Amino acid sequence: MTTTERQHYWLPVPDRTGFKWHRHAFRGKHWDGRPADTSVCGLPCAMAKPSELDWFQAPTCADCTELLITEYSAAGNAEPSDTGSAEGEP
Ligand SMILES: [Zn+2]
Repeated sequence: MTTTERQHYWLPVPDRTGFKWHRHAFRGKHWDGRPADTSVCGLPCAMAKPSELDWFQAPTCADCTELLITEYSAAGNAEPSDTGSAEGEP
């Protein structure tokens, strides 16, 4: 059996102007400190350690959300991710 893990994490990143922040999803377990990566929605993002305020203010990227939901649905996992709730519940 092949289990394809589709893990992702969310991180607030600045756009090119540096003024607007959006919370994008990225592939992987967690941010490992890399300076840049491509988000799930295909945007090259410069990454930096977000502050509490960034987390609070950055709106979640709708494209990333849509894509992840689509993926999860396609994988037969109807849960719209992200709640971090328990797995294997009845
Ligand atoms: Zn995105």
